[in-house]
Amino acid sequence: PATLGMLGGGQLGRFFVLAAHELGYKVWVLDPDPNSPAGKAADRHLCAEYDDFAALDQFAAGCAAVTTEFENVPAGTLEYLAKFIPVRPNADAVGICQNRVAEKSFLRANGIPHAAFAAINSVADLEAAGTELFPGILKVARFGYDGKGQARVTSREEAIAAFQAFKNEPCVLEQMLKLDYEVSVVLARDEQGHTKCFPVAENQHSGGILDVSIAPARSSACQRDSAQEIAEHIAAKLGYIGTLGVEFFVSHGELYVNEMAPRPHNSGHYTVDACVTSQYEQQVRALCGLPLGDARAHSAAVMVNLLGDIWYDASQPGPDAHGAYREPDWSKLYAVSNLKLHLYGKHHARPGRKMGHFTVLDADPAKALAVALAARAAIGIKEE
Ligand code: ATP
Ligand code: MG
Ligand code: MG
Repeated sequence: PATLGMLGGGQLGRFFVLAAHELGYKVWVLDPDPNSPAGKAADRHLCAEYDDFAALDQFAAGCAAVTTEFENVPAGTLEYLAKFIPVRPNADAVGICQNRVAEKSFLRANGIPHAAFAAINSVADLEAAGTELFPGILKVARFGYDGKGQARVTSREEAIAAFQAFKNEPCVLEQMLKLDYEVSVVLARDEQGHTKCFPVAENQHSGGILDVSIAPARSSACQRDSAQEIAEHIAAKLGYIGTLGVEFFVSHGELYVNEMAPRPHNSGHYTVDACVTSQYEQQVRALCGLPLGDARAHSAAVMVNLLGDIWYDASQPGPDAHGAYREPDWSKLYAVSNLKLHLYGKHHARPGRKMGHFTVLDADPAKALAVALAARAAIGIKEE
């Protein structure tokens, strides 16, 4: 069987490995962390930095095609690999998604609705920023995730202080929208440009981290269609091949694109249990030039993220320097017959770290949500 390459060893990569194995492929994973979940599931784990060219040469020699699960893989790494093997998605698409200035400029250039913003490279840029951007959110242009590298600012003075606290790194200043709710579209696009969208998910965050995803989203069918159309338009403009996640805000009933993820998305975990084809299998299919599978859902689904917080127990001595923790009582979840538990096999639990998730399936979306929220409370996840 052909061997596929995966850049990044996190849980998204691990699900890709599982999907690829199901279809008969082998997978090599490149990730510097010797304990990475995908690395452990893979046929071979190249434990090296993303810009280690000797490792990249090995990778290119051993793999038929390569994809990514980590949005911050250096664009130079993707460009280098593309000289030898197909790289999907392409380096330019990943480059746009990994830099908020490039991403929002792309949205603006293509007439795609987004929150007003300004690129900030200096204090002078903040002094010149329009008053409509306050109150706003200052976000570092690169390497932010789970709400890290962001500061909510009500005034120009606060924005300047925040910019300096980010060590004058390039940022965007974005208008703060009053959110009705948030949704996302995960889609797959193949090399011929055929696109399949999964049902739109509604996403609730807690402390800047995705907490609960509800699919289908409780918005109108018309709004769900518009979100899918916008996501398809973005994928086409990026010349995207693979699985793409697009996050949206809904504010005063209108859709605004928040950001794109050039990889499977946390809000698409539900597709593993609820859809004919998962977002990870679509990534394998698009990478290998196979026809995409059906993205239809068998049932409504609600996904709950399991963060390290519920492992953490400050009253107990930790097994090692990474902190105190104990395994949560999974019997509370096993007792729910329409709940699917997924644990990623991470060695160390830290508050805020994504350790696993569960998905509740029910024909009735309201029932799925009620069961999921009860299960969430039963294992000790607190409301914000
Ligand atoms: P992710 O983990 O999704 O990659 P991130 O760190 O890239 O997160 P964003 O998606 O930009 O961060 O923002 C995180 C959350 O903060 C959003 O999902 C939303 O709840 C809130 N938020 C961000 N920008 C705005 C805005 N302009 N107006 C209102 N709320 C916002
Ligand atoms: Mg992000
Ligand atoms: Mg986000």
